[in-house]
Amino acid sequence: MITHTGGCHCGRVAFEVIAPARVTVTECNCSICSKSGYLHLIVPRSRFKLVSGADVLTTYQFNTRVAKHLFCSVCGVKAFYIPRSHPEGYSVNARCLNEGTVEQMTIVPSDGKNWEKTYATGRGKPLD
Ligand SMILES: [Zn+2]
Repeated sequence: MITHTGGCHCGRVAFEVIAPARVTVTECNCSICSKSGYLHLIVPRSRFKLVSGADVLTTYQFNTRVAKHLFCSVCGVKAFYIPRSHPEGYSVNARCLNEGTVEQMTIVPSDGKNWEKTYATGRGKPLD
């Protein structure tokens, strides 16, 4: 496990996330992820730290309103958010990680479009 850094485009939102150097991320086909091209690196809250930008984050919610989509209100980039599959953790946008620490990125598809079928319990697998 190492510390990766990342953030939004304008730089106001910055975070640190503890994850392996070789990460496995998910590409979801649901209505919002497919439009933004989001790549999920989902971690427990204890492995995520917001370094700056709490004051510029805007929350967007829809449907079940479990997920809290957090956008930078200045540049519009969603660098991380609270996902419906794991509201006890954070989903970091792997596309918003800074260069230099990720040795390998494996992208696994996730069928979020068919949520009830993919997540029969209503949630993703527990985070370690
Ligand atoms: Zn920004």
